[in-house]
Amino acid sequence: MQVQAAVMLQPGQIEIREFDKPTPADDSLLLQVDKVGICGSDKHMYLGHTALKFPVIPGHEVVGTVSEIGKNANQVMNVMGGPIKAGDRITVVPGSKNCGRCYYCLHVPGRPTLCSGRTIYGFSNSETPPYLNGEFSEYTYIHGNSWVYKIPKDIPEEISVLTEPVAVATRAVERACAPGLPQVGDGYSIGSSVAVLGCGPIGLLVIAVLRDSGAGTIIATDLVDSRLEMAEQMGADVVINVGNTTPEERVEQIQSLTNGVGVDIAIECAGIPAVFSEALDVVRRGGKVIEVGHYTDSGETQVRPHQICNKDLDVCGVWAYPQIQFQTALDFLQRTRAPLHKLITHHLPLNQLEIGIDMLGKEGVYKVVIEPQS
Ligand SMILES: [Zn+2]
Ligand SMILES: [Zn+2]
Repeated sequence: MQVQAAVMLQPGQIEIREFDKPTPADDSLLLQVDKVGICGSDKHMYLGHTALKFPVIPGHEVVGTVSEIGKNANQVMNVMGGPIKAGDRITVVPGSKNCGRCYYCLHVPGRPTLCSGRTIYGFSNSETPPYLNGEFSEYTYIHGNSWVYKIPKDIPEEISVLTEPVAVATRAVERACAPGLPQVGDGYSIGSSVAVLGCGPIGLLVIAVLRDSGAGTIIATDLVDSRLEMAEQMGADVVINVGNTTPEERVEQIQSLTNGVGVDIAIECAGIPAVFSEALDVVRRGGKVIEVGHYTDSGETQVRPHQICNKDLDVCGVWAYPQIQFQTALDFLQRTRAPLHKLITHHLPLNQLEIGIDMLGKEGVYKVVIEPQS
């Protein structure tokens, strides 16, 4: 049997190609792909912003059904919520297990995404067997070095495809928590005020996570009114349209909502360099800035380093998430009352992937989901 997969031959060029359906090795499994979200990073890849060895089968936000499973796979993989068997619905962490022996694994073991020996589904070269190492495909090959999670039955099918972006959002919020035993007023905690700058899917999920985790005033900014309405539905208290206000007015407005000082936490979710500088403007002294929007390099902006120094700021990056963060994401999806189904706006078949990529970022489009079985 042949498997159809969307292969990005180079930026801007995607072709549906056929591959032999592989039989999984003893430590591996073959996953029938049911749903895959299109990520902003897929669009960046398509636009040539990501240095990769093409051809690549993109796609890393997967929900699928185990089609065939090798006899040792449950022992070799990190299987959470398992054991798993053919017919089970699972999701797969894009990043493989870490290598355990690179500089970062040895010296900074608490930050597994720094490992230089990982492979990542949806970002790897697909020229060698078993080829199917990305998820915009009818089937994908999950090797033994993977983390897989059985999807709890009480997570609605529709929103389970948000597991990967929710992992990003929950990590962004956890990065805002102070390390170790916090002093009062250090980092994010119950009641903290937070500005979320940028209301695409990640910003909106960050807002939902903040609301569930006990945030105080949540202020959301964006250029598009409909996104700000969605931000309110996810739990934002105050929304500010960046198109109708000057940066000075926004700083003033945010200070007026926060005892005249600025937010405790500012989270940059827009992926626009200038928004990072704005985060430095709107955060209070002794506050924290989280940078999660720039998964690809969107260029430069001017910052005043004095602000970081004078405000005694903590500035934290978010490079993906530890593999165990999928557990946090699934727990969140099980319990949240945020209307996350509203974020899934479009479903397309595999051969319309390019149309879906093109739609991203347009008004009224949040998560576009590819359904290769349709
Ligand atoms: Zn993603
Ligand atoms: Zn490593």
